[in-house]
Amino acid sequence: MNNQKNIQRLVVLGAGESGVGTALLAKAKGYEVFVSDFGKITTKYASVLTDAGLTFEAEQHTEALILNADVVMKSPGIPDTAPIVKKLIAKGVPVISEIEFAAKFTNANIIGITGSNGKTTTTMLIEHVLSSGISGVTMAGNIGDSFAKAVLDSGTDTFVLELSSFQLDGIKEFCPKIAVLTNLSPDHLDRYEYSYEKYIASKFRLIKNQTEYDYFIYDADDKDIKNYLKKYKPKAQCFPFSLENELKQGAFIKNNHIVINMNNEQDIIVSESSLSLKGKHNTKNAMAASMAARLVGIRKQTIRESLTNFQGVEHRLEMVLKINNVQYINDSKATNVNAAYFALEAVKTPVVWIVGGVDKGNDYSELYKLVNEKVKAIICLGVDNSRIVASFENCVETIIETQSMQEAVKISYALGERNDTVLLSPCCASFDLFENYEDRGNQFKAAVHKL
Ligand code: ADP
Repeated sequence: MNNQKNIQRLVVLGAGESGVGTALLAKAKGYEVFVSDFGKITTKYASVLTDAGLTFEAEQHTEALILNADVVMKSPGIPDTAPIVKKLIAKGVPVISEIEFAAKFTNANIIGITGSNGKTTTTMLIEHVLSSGISGVTMAGNIGDSFAKAVLDSGTDTFVLELSSFQLDGIKEFCPKIAVLTNLSPDHLDRYEYSYEKYIASKFRLIKNQTEYDYFIYDADDKDIKNYLKKYKPKAQCFPFSLENELKQGAFIKNNHIVINMNNEQDIIVSESSLSLKGKHNTKNAMAASMAARLVGIRKQTIRESLTNFQGVEHRLEMVLKINNVQYINDSKATNVNAAYFALEAVKTPVVWIVGGVDKGNDYSELYKLVNEKVKAIICLGVDNSRIVASFENCVETIIETQSMQEAVKISYALGERNDTVLLSPCCASFDLFENYEDRGNQFKAAVHKL
């Protein structure tokens, strides 16, 4: 604390969406703010900072201006192992995340969504269902505006926040009224000393401050969630969802309908076939959204209608075009095995599968059964396709290696026959051939439209 002025000095590390949002909010709340980014700052964010009269530096961390902080907000992309972070921790300076910082400045209800896959889809679905029934709902976090920026801008009653494990790592007191954990599968393990247990613990930080007045919605079929809950009993009221079992409390499937049992009342919400998003994974997302909506008092009829008219999310099982009765689907956001599993599961026709990119140590064996059943040809799209070829050469006769989206789409066109599906669900990160997954998905769509 700067005693003379009684003003807190907040240093923001990283000038991306969450860093800039935090800086703006902190300034408005009377903090002395300094923003430091070890990399370049984009022109867009540099001008936001300049226009707001904030001091900042790029391509360096000036220790004299950072180590004197009362509190530091570390952007989610910066690991705890960064030298400046280690120095701050050694000095005892609190290092928190934007989520922790921003939550202190709002009394709105918070619905926090995390998980390995399905965060964006479930967040958007919840926002859509809630907004169909009540006003004052704002979506933020890992999607769109940062939470801090949203807190600064809006007189919101309910925040729907997509939260990554990195954002959860920096929380201390943050407590969502409703927490949603979509599922768990190994991801980003490089940030967790290659320990899946540490990654799981990070996801569960979402519920660590909850009390018996809060709610926890989770996938009861997920074996890693189930295992964790054998050792850890949530304090919040639990509302699991399951495709496999009827639940006394929670959501499940009965006679092909989503049904919710909540506090001794049973509600039939909607038939699976009328959901606008297809695939078992999306049924799970819809069950999570239905319960979150019921908990904030949205009417059944409104939930039903909004789950059937939701438009879907770009690059997630996105229907692109049908050409000669071959359906082209863009699932570029499927950057791991679990997401591709649900994509293959959702497609009901023979598949020409475009797969590949930067392999993060995938175990493809989970996919063998589905690939044997459905995939007639694999088109590898990556700089190094060796692991994909080695993993699938015994299940699929036709495996073709390509190095560009145009080539991959052309070959898929040649291989696809009436009633087949060409599915881009890469299982891998995109950085070898593309800027990011959006670029990969956009190139796919453009190539399909040119066919
Ligand atoms: P995230 O924000 O967690 O990355 P997205 O909603 O962007 O999740 O979806 C990423 C990928 O995971 C897409 O391929 C999507 O079809 C798939 N997916 C969506 N929901 C689920 C789910 N509940 N379980 C598994 N995969 C899912």
